[in-house]
Amino acid sequence: MPQNPKRKILYPGSFDPLTLGHLDLIRRAACLFDKVYVGVLVNPHKKSLFSVEERVIMIRRTLADIPQAEVVCFEGLLIDFSHELGVTQILRGLRDASDFEAEIKVAQGLRVLDPSLETVFLGTDPKFSYLSSSMAREVASGGGDISAFVPADIASLVAEKYQKS
Ligand code: ADP
Repeated sequence: MPQNPKRKILYPGSFDPLTLGHLDLIRRAACLFDKVYVGVLVNPHKKSLFSVEERVIMIRRTLADIPQAEVVCFEGLLIDFSHELGVTQILRGLRDASDFEAEIKVAQGLRVLDPSLETVFLGTDPKFSYLSSSMAREVASGGGDISAFVPADIASLVAEKYQKS
């Protein structure tokens, strides 16, 4: 039986690294949708801490207990990738008003390109609304403990990266 596209959603992002805020959003989306694709964006213009391959492996391990979640990577336009996956819904998280300002423009732009593509926003749990991947990287680069920011196994991989560099 063909899958109903209404029950699938794509959550795109850099996830460099995945934080507890991202994880909370994925768990909540998994209660709302049959399939949550976590799309790791390949951005050759952005310097990243982890390669896309490393991120995909780390995130797969972290999401192993969420059967609805599937980790994929993509390059190029979100709109093309959503067509490839057969999804008509994009998930984005909103931490605050500045996320809203940026995200609403992207969502509106997407609607111009493809009116059948809907962006679904989930408000961040207040526990994680201050949290970003860049904050986790910044603290870890100074040798700080980031176990309150990212899942435990990811915290040790981030620390290892900075020890090596
Ligand atoms: P991007 O580089 O696309 O912003 P991120 O990995 O930083 O990628 O974020 C991906 C998505 O996750 C965005 O929709 C962002 O708003 C959301 N997000 C980022 N941090 C958090 C958080 N702490 N809690 C919930 N959602 C978040």
